[in-house]
Amino acid sequence: MADMIPLAIRCHRVVSRSNRILPTLTHHHMTQTATRKYATKPAPPSPPTTDNNHRNDSNPPPKAGMANSKYEYTRTFEDPRRLLPNTYIILRLDGRSFSTFSATQNFKKPNDPRALQLMNASAAATLRTLTDIRMAYGVSDEFSFLLPRECTLFDRREDKLVSTVVSTFTGWYVFLWQRYFGGGDAAAAEEGEGESLRAPPSFDCRAVCYPSVGNVRDYFAWRQADAHVNNLFNTAFWTLVIRGGVSRRDAEAELRGTFAADKNELLFSRFGINYNNEPEMYRKGSVVYRDYRIPEDEGAAAAEPTLTEPLEWSEREGEEGEERETTAVPKFKSKTQKEKERKLAKKARIVTEHVDIIGDEFWQKRPWLLGNGN
Ligand SMILES: [Mg+2]
Repeated sequence: MADMIPLAIRCHRVVSRSNRILPTLTHHHMTQTATRKYATKPAPPSPPTTDNNHRNDSNPPPKAGMANSKYEYTRTFEDPRRLLPNTYIILRLDGRSFSTFSATQNFKKPNDPRALQLMNASAAATLRTLTDIRMAYGVSDEFSFLLPRECTLFDRREDKLVSTVVSTFTGWYVFLWQRYFGGGDAAAAEEGEGESLRAPPSFDCRAVCYPSVGNVRDYFAWRQADAHVNNLFNTAFWTLVIRGGVSRRDAEAELRGTFAADKNELLFSRFGINYNNEPEMYRKGSVVYRDYRIPEDEGAAAAEPTLTEPLEWSEREGEEGEERETTAVPKFKSKTQKEKERKLAKKARIVTEHVDIIGDEFWQKRPWLLGNGN
């Protein structure tokens, strides 16, 4: 301890006399004294302090951890974007570099039913995990998830919604891989049936807000129309390549500038394929949604499905007129009401269908998907 006092005085003098620290002298003294000092009593490392938090010194010390440290200000750099209120939210994820991934995993061309079923199962599991999601539509390596306009999940924070949906989906995709591709089954692998996961799949995801029912309907119509165009092209292309023995370049050249009718004709006249007989999953994509209806009785075959809508939905339907006039303001829901809805959503069946979603019928028969609104 005695060693330290002269140093403090010496340093102080050097500084106060000349009003600046003389580098050589100070350095020399510091080095010598510091060595001695640390040998007996190491200086404590400077821990995170509360100095910058304008705390009164008489306050009890904060708990250890990130909160209340002097570094906490870095949180102010965060810029959470909240998605526009009272709008439908669509989160679309898309396979990243899936042409490479599907080649690595030997996906069949033009469609691999295992890969599509895995996508559908992952989407269904995502709906099961996140009860706020009403429905999803998927084709190829993409899936779009619909959240209702009154959605308050994560306070509508875009980063939280996007990252949760895409990572939940990706997690399920990896988790369920073996169920659809085998790969863990040694016997199947020997027979060349198994396809173990050899590369980590990843997806990107974006969020888009749509203000009206019409916009949401058009969005899904766009994706399904796209699915049709792409699948017809891919079917014609891969049939030419695989069955026709045509090179990829020639097949592409042959299909350039052709219309849907030309491709249908090509498939039928040269390969005897009626495109309309291709599986609906390939032609129409997959809709995964929560179904609140009670499954039809075995006996009542042709009967219209009975609507057993969630209570909240039935209540709201009675107020339809009023609701339509006040769509500018999202309807407030109490905690109990939200909890009731969550339970109903959890109980609802999650079904996967390959049907037309461009026309009105699908939506009219499932009015809870879009809710009331314009
Ligand atoms: Mg992709």
